[in-house]
Amino acid sequence: MARRGFASTIHSVSGGLRAAGQLASLEQCKMMHAHVIVAGFDTSVVVGSALVNGYGKAGVVSDARRVFEDSLSDMNIVAWNALMAAYAQQGDYKSAFELFESMEGCRLVPDGYSFLAILTALCNAGMFRQIDQWFTRMIVNYGLEPSLEHCTCLVGAIARTGEFDRAERVVLNMPFEPDAAVWRALLSACSYLGEADRAWYMAKRVLELEPHDPFAYIVASNVLSSVGRWDDVAELRKMIKDRRAKKVIGRSWIEVQGEVHVFVAADWKHKRSKEIYQKLQELMGDIEKLGYVPVLDEVLHNVEEEKRKEALWYHSEKLAVAFGVLCGSALPGKPLRIVKNLRICKDCHEAFKYMTRVLEREIIVRDVNRYHRFVNGNCTCRDTW
Ligand code: ZN
Ligand code: ZN
Repeated sequence: MARRGFASTIHSVSGGLRAAGQLASLEQCKMMHAHVIVAGFDTSVVVGSALVNGYGKAGVVSDARRVFEDSLSDMNIVAWNALMAAYAQQGDYKSAFELFESMEGCRLVPDGYSFLAILTALCNAGMFRQIDQWFTRMIVNYGLEPSLEHCTCLVGAIARTGEFDRAERVVLNMPFEPDAAVWRALLSACSYLGEADRAWYMAKRVLELEPHDPFAYIVASNVLSSVGRWDDVAELRKMIKDRRAKKVIGRSWIEVQGEVHVFVAADWKHKRSKEIYQKLQELMGDIEKLGYVPVLDEVLHNVEEEKRKEALWYHSEKLAVAFGVLCGSALPGKPLRIVKNLRICKDCHEAFKYMTRVLEREIIVRDVNRYHRFVNGNCTCRDTW
């Protein structure tokens, strides 16, 4: 637009910010923010809420909050919900609660999105028992109709506490056809609690609706192999083959000076690949000294151990971290920020905890579900994702 001589409008800017948020692209958000100020759009509510959303999705809630507070009196419910959703993605339920309370203090009436943010925050914080109460509160005290997303949160939460029968009753009684997301929430819970039979059943439900879902295949094959049900594992393999299920390729990216660098596993396309692999080797050696043990159940079982270990080393998210360290992608004291298009794997999750101690730096990973913030040997998800 700029090159062709069109002036930007509040709508083009907020569209751009929405896209940057989807990619968790912080530097793009900052550049557009600068443009917003120069172009004099900073008084617009539309742009303001797009900035809150953009920074929030990029995982920098403090920046989202700053924009929000700068024009607090003008902020509409969209902006309030965007900020709450940003806290929710981090599992920061206390800040989400606090906003919910102040929202009412500002005479705004919470809507379905506000409640979805609260439920998501609780879910990401592993506070499953409170989800029930908020769900009821939404219906009884606020007269809101729960959507399928609200129900999915509730079902997943009930299942996580081990009450599978009740969770299934909710599924059968809700006014919606359960979609793949509902079954996926149940599948996660079953696999988390090591319920192999149920997990297999749920995985089949997911695959009926989304025959190519990589998550269902991975979780089901892990849970079935962990209890030695090789017949079912074979059936699963056959299903994958028959359906020619294309694996969605895992990609991780990192932004360095406004440029996005994308990696896939065992990728040698980057022009600095040699240095990246060297750096990674060095990092892996360092964390092993600190006691890191590879999580081998992420790779197939019929490969010898040394090869399996190596396969883990070259995951896309590890390559992105190594590259980030290599080019000093953020200032000292600032976190390394990685985005992944799928769920972060257990092994990388474990490795990153140790890496924060070796590097003395925070690592933030936004995966398809949530933010993981690795600080000082721990992750904010407390391993419950
Ligand atoms: Zn990995
Ligand atoms: Zn985590």
